[in-house]
Amino acid sequence: MWSRLNQLFQPLARCRLCGAAHRGELCEPCRAELPALATACPQCAQPLEGTQAGLCGQCLAHPPSFDAARVPFRYAPPVDRLIAGLKFHERLSDGRLLGSLLAEAIAAAPRVDLLLPIPLHRQRLRERGFNQAAELARTVSSTTGIPVDYDALARVRAGSPQHQARRRERLRQMRGAFTWQDRQRPPARVALIDDVVTTGATADAAARCLKRAGAEWVEVWAVARTPMKR
Ligand SMILES: [Zn+2]
Ligand SMILES: [Zn+2]
Repeated sequence: MWSRLNQLFQPLARCRLCGAAHRGELCEPCRAELPALATACPQCAQPLEGTQAGLCGQCLAHPPSFDAARVPFRYAPPVDRLIAGLKFHERLSDGRLLGSLLAEAIAAAPRVDLLLPIPLHRQRLRERGFNQAAELARTVSSTTGIPVDYDALARVRAGSPQHQARRRERLRQMRGAFTWQDRQRPPARVALIDDVVTTGATADAAARCLKRAGAEWVEVWAVARTPMKR
């Protein structure tokens, strides 16, 4: 409802993907072609086969530390291109578009108390100059009104880039990678914000840290999901 109203009051502009004149950021055909993650495990967002419903086998056998994952898209064109634009070319307009799509996707979800972008290790942050997850969290926060904390959760170990390891190895690598460095406990319900979920190991380690610090319910809100290697 609000996004519709907002669109109505936006000046006529160009669709961010195809350039067609349109109110709002995306024209209807481009919006309809976004690679929706239709059927997925509610806890980890692993894509599910056909009519399978409920938790995936992985979550039934070895559930992650987070309680739910809300991920609107598969990591496929044009979402992958927008994520790369944000992450590697610092196109903040791509980040705002992805952030507002993520905010739309979680609009009907039960409210959380705080948003926490998955932090980069200090050294990585220095190399890249900004944290893509923080940019997404900024837009989700301004759209939903949920506060965001950029500093309380910190990454104390770098860990290897996502695609290089399988899940089990990645889980081991990520152990102890995060620390909660605020004097106050985290609120009861928090959402971790990230661009892409691959093995879920990063989110698992961050959620574990938050629960140890006192959070009761931790969700993962990410733009896209790549299928998990077992
Ligand atoms: Zn378009
Ligand atoms: Zn699952």
